[in-house]
Amino acid sequence: MDGQPEALVDLDAIQANVAALRRHVGSAAVMAVVKSDAYGHGMLKSARAALAGGATWLGVVQLDDAIELRTAGFTVPILSLHGCPDARHAQAIRRGVDMTAGSPELVDQIALAAGRVGMPARLHLEADTGMGRGGATAADWPGLVAAALAAEAAGLVRVVGLWSHFACADIPGHPSIGQQLTAFREAIALAERAGARPEVRHLANGPATLTRPDSYFDLVRPGGAVYGLCTLPGGAPAWLRPAMTLRARLIHVKRVPPGVPVSYGHRYATARATALGVLPLGYNEGVPRLASNAPRLMFTSGRRVPIAGTVNLNHVILDLGSGPAEPGDEVILFGPGDRGEPTAQEWAEALGTISYEIVSRFTGKVPRTYCGVTAAEETTALGGAAFGGAAPGGAATGSDGSTDDQVATAH
Ligand SMILES: *Cc1c(COP(=O)(O)O)cnc(C)c1O
Repeated sequence: MDGQPEALVDLDAIQANVAALRRHVGSAAVMAVVKSDAYGHGMLKSARAALAGGATWLGVVQLDDAIELRTAGFTVPILSLHGCPDARHAQAIRRGVDMTAGSPELVDQIALAAGRVGMPARLHLEADTGMGRGGATAADWPGLVAAALAAEAAGLVRVVGLWSHFACADIPGHPSIGQQLTAFREAIALAERAGARPEVRHLANGPATLTRPDSYFDLVRPGGAVYGLCTLPGGAPAWLRPAMTLRARLIHVKRVPPGVPVSYGHRYATARATALGVLPLGYNEGVPRLASNAPRLMFTSGRRVPIAGTVNLNHVILDLGSGPAEPGDEVILFGPGDRGEPTAQEWAEALGTISYEIVSRFTGKVPRTYCGVTAAEETTALGGAAFGGAAPGGAATGSDGSTDDQVATAH
């Protein structure tokens, strides 16, 4: 590092986390969720590490992310987890991207695009079993299934998946967990009675993957756990390793007497003769301003030190005490925790949020660097054999962004 802050991502940790998750779930397949730039860890490299660890599916939110993965050469099944009208369905179909549908209208739009492309769309029907976000309610589910099976009979779609999403899997014992499981089983039964023959049925996010074997079905969808994070109380189990270390170097150090006020609003004053150290990152770079005056969230020279006063837009000031300190000293905001540094989980608990929000704040603001065997192995397999039907990966799209996609929109 050259003094600039950096987010160092340990790709070996990602690979090992996925391998451990795979062992944990037994025969269910693992979809590594790499949405939001892999929760701030970098989508392409994280996806590669996850596949090296044994994931056989990738999950994203945006269709564009799925297409970027295909363009980078990933051939495994990729599911776009939100059903989105007026999206680039034709391009997704050509690139063999699995899509979510939660309404008959969206099924019709996607089927229309498939008709023009001349190949069936791979659809996962989403049931809203209690999250209240995407998907069809129990009342609307029969209509969604009927629309999808009609499009399947016409050769326009393949219903390859049935899925739903937990609202409270990170609150163990919450009554909604069992209720959502029951509702999902009923949705599957109804769809299969109507003639659906899905390849995969899936419900479990990371917290459910860690705590509810009865929710595995054919496929689990861990996200944060891939990166060593979890929203369960207390965070992830010790067998998952946080993959991101956020660090920077002091750019300025000065010795001051007791009673010196520090930073905007003078919300801090030195209690003793001490050294103040300046770090070149603030809330613009991702340090929550709510961390102002946090007593134990910074780690340097083997010890925890307080944030002195208000977090600035581009700076944080540390109270370093009387020990040796000089410009260039490394400061770790969070990491895996094994040197005594805080974890993202500890930041989250101190600030009343979840670790996912802590690690994803630095995306695009702090340069990312990578370590781990996988980082050097750009040749790591991008996936196994091509999957059924559509032409995955490769240069399948001579006409990206062509009128196919625009025609699909029904404004
Ligand atoms: C984000 C997400 C996941 C992964 O959730 P985690 O809590 O990070 O494990 C799984 N499924 C869906 C639909 C999601 O949106």
